[in-house]
Amino acid sequence: MNKIEHIGIAVKDLSASIPLFEKLLNTSCYKTELVNSENVKTAFFKTGENKIELLESTVTDGVIAKYIDKKGEGIHHIAFDVNDIYAEMERLKKEGFTLLNETPKNGADNKLVCFLHPKGTNGVLIELCQEKNKITDLQI
Ligand code: ZN
Repeated sequence: MNKIEHIGIAVKDLSASIPLFEKLLNTSCYKTELVNSENVKTAFFKTGENKIELLESTVTDGVIAKYIDKKGEGIHHIAFDVNDIYAEMERLKKEGFTLLNETPKNGADNKLVCFLHPKGTNGVLIELCQEKNKITDLQI
Protein backbone atom coordinates (compact mmCIF):
# COMPACT_ATOMS: atom_id res chain seq x y z
CA MET A 1 0.00 0.00 0.00
CA ASN A 2 1.09 3.52 -0.65
CA LYS A 3 0.26 6.73 1.20
CA ILE A 4 -3.04 7.55 2.84
CA GLU A 5 -5.03 8.88 -0.12
CA HIS A 6 -7.73 10.50 1.97
CA ILE A 7 -9.65 10.39 5.20
CA GLY A 8 -13.43 10.07 4.90
CA ILE A 9 -15.63 11.98 7.34
CA ALA A 10 -19.37 11.30 7.68
CA VAL A 11 -21.45 14.46 7.94
CA LYS A 12 -25.16 15.15 8.15
CA ASP A 13 -25.27 18.20 5.95
CA LEU A 14 -22.66 19.11 3.35
CA SER A 15 -24.08 22.60 2.94
CA ALA A 16 -23.05 23.27 6.54
CA SER A 17 -19.88 21.17 6.61
CA ILE A 18 -18.31 22.47 3.37
CA PRO A 19 -18.04 26.07 4.66
CA LEU A 20 -16.93 24.73 8.06
CA PHE A 21 -14.05 22.74 6.54
CA GLU A 22 -13.18 25.60 4.20
CA LYS A 23 -12.72 27.77 7.28
CA LEU A 24 -10.92 25.05 9.21
CA LEU A 25 -8.47 24.12 6.45
CA ASN A 26 -8.30 27.59 4.94
CA THR A 27 -8.82 26.18 1.46
CA SER A 28 -11.77 25.84 -0.90
CA CYS A 29 -13.58 22.60 -1.57
CA TYR A 30 -12.22 21.60 -5.01
CA LYS A 31 -14.85 19.08 -6.00
CA THR A 32 -18.25 17.74 -5.07
CA GLU A 33 -19.46 14.53 -6.57
CA LEU A 34 -22.50 12.29 -6.36
CA VAL A 35 -21.57 8.61 -6.02
CA ASN A 36 -24.70 6.74 -6.93
CA SER A 37 -23.27 3.30 -6.17
CA GLU A 38 -22.84 4.34 -2.53
CA ASN A 39 -25.80 6.71 -2.19
CA VAL A 40 -23.52 9.50 -1.07
CA LYS A 41 -22.63 13.00 -2.03
CA THR A 42 -18.97 13.77 -1.46
CA ALA A 43 -16.90 16.93 -1.12
CA PHE A 44 -13.11 17.00 -1.39
CA PHE A 45 -10.46 19.25 0.15
CA LYS A 46 -6.72 19.22 -0.34
CA THR A 47 -4.20 20.27 2.28
CA GLY A 48 -0.68 19.73 1.01
CA GLU A 49 -0.38 16.02 0.19
CA ASN A 50 -3.54 15.13 2.05
CA LYS A 51 -7.15 14.92 1.06
CA ILE A 52 -10.28 15.02 3.16
CA GLU A 53 -13.50 13.57 1.81
CA LEU A 54 -16.79 14.62 3.42
CA LEU A 55 -19.67 12.19 2.90
CA GLU A 56 -23.37 12.96 3.18
CA SER A 57 -26.02 10.30 2.64
CA THR A 58 -28.46 10.91 -0.20
CA VAL A 59 -30.97 8.40 1.21
CA THR A 60 -32.34 7.99 4.74
CA ASP A 61 -31.24 4.34 5.04
CA GLY A 62 -27.87 4.60 3.30
CA VAL A 63 -24.59 3.42 4.85
CA ILE A 64 -23.56 6.93 5.88
CA ALA A 65 -27.00 7.71 7.36
CA LYS A 66 -26.85 4.46 9.34
CA TYR A 67 -23.32 5.20 10.49
CA ILE A 68 -24.32 8.64 11.78
CA ASP A 69 -27.39 7.18 13.53
CA LYS A 70 -25.14 4.74 15.36
CA LYS A 71 -21.96 6.70 15.99
CA GLY A 72 -22.69 10.31 15.13
CA GLU A 73 -20.74 12.42 12.68
CA GLY A 74 -17.00 11.82 12.49
CA ILE A 75 -14.18 9.88 10.88
CA HIS A 76 -15.72 7.14 8.76
CA HIS A 77 -12.82 5.56 6.87
CA ILE A 78 -9.15 5.78 5.94
CA ALA A 79 -8.30 5.26 2.27
CA PHE A 80 -4.96 3.97 1.05
CA ASP A 81 -3.68 4.48 -2.46
CA VAL A 82 -2.64 1.22 -4.12
CA ASN A 83 -0.85 0.52 -7.41
CA ASP A 84 -2.85 -2.57 -8.29
CA ILE A 85 -6.18 -2.89 -6.50
CA TYR A 86 -6.80 -6.40 -7.87
CA ALA A 87 -3.48 -7.71 -6.56
CA GLU A 88 -3.93 -5.95 -3.22
CA MET A 89 -7.44 -7.41 -2.79
CA GLU A 90 -6.06 -10.87 -3.56
CA ARG A 91 -3.21 -10.41 -1.06
CA LEU A 92 -5.52 -9.20 1.72
CA LYS A 93 -8.00 -12.01 1.11
CA LYS A 94 -5.16 -14.52 1.46
CA GLU A 95 -4.15 -12.81 4.72
CA GLY A 96 -7.64 -13.47 6.06
CA PHE A 97 -9.23 -10.03 5.74
CA THR A 98 -12.86 -9.76 4.70
CA LEU A 99 -13.52 -7.66 1.64
CA LEU A 100 -16.85 -5.86 1.53
CA ASN A 101 -16.91 -6.14 -2.25
CA GLU A 102 -15.44 -8.96 -4.29
CA THR A 103 -14.69 -6.80 -7.31
CA PRO A 104 -13.55 -3.17 -7.30
CA LYS A 105 -16.36 -0.61 -7.40
CA ASN A 106 -16.50 2.82 -8.95
CA GLY A 107 -15.76 5.32 -6.21
CA ALA A 108 -15.58 9.09 -6.09
CA ASP A 109 -12.73 11.10 -7.59
CA ASN A 110 -12.09 8.79 -10.58
CA LYS A 111 -11.11 5.80 -8.46
CA LEU A 112 -11.70 2.09 -8.28
CA VAL A 113 -12.33 1.22 -4.64
CA CYS A 114 -12.72 -1.72 -2.29
CA PHE A 115 -13.56 -1.67 1.42
CA LEU A 116 -12.38 -4.07 4.13
CA HIS A 117 -14.74 -5.16 6.87
CA PRO A 118 -13.96 -3.14 10.02
CA LYS A 119 -14.49 -6.22 12.21
CA GLY A 120 -11.16 -7.54 10.93
CA THR A 121 -9.27 -4.26 11.17
CA ASN A 122 -9.69 -3.16 14.79
CA GLY A 123 -12.85 -1.26 13.97
CA VAL A 124 -11.33 0.91 11.26
CA LEU A 125 -13.06 0.89 7.90
CA ILE A 126 -10.25 0.70 5.34
CA GLU A 127 -10.70 1.71 1.72
CA LEU A 128 -8.29 0.71 -1.02
CA CYS A 129 -8.30 3.01 -3.97
CA GLN A 130 -6.58 3.11 -7.31
CA GLU A 131 -6.69 6.01 -9.71
CA LYS A 132 -8.52 4.82 -12.84
CA ASN A 133 -6.05 6.32 -15.28
CA LYS A 134 -3.30 4.29 -13.57
CA ILE A 135 -5.03 1.05 -14.47
CA THR A 136 -2.96 -0.99 -16.86
CA ASP A 137 -4.35 -2.70 -19.94
CA LEU A 138 -3.72 -6.03 -18.30
CA GLN A 139 -6.24 -5.27 -15.57
CA ILE A 140 -9.10 -4.43 -17.91
ZN1 ZN B 1 -13.22 7.42 0.59
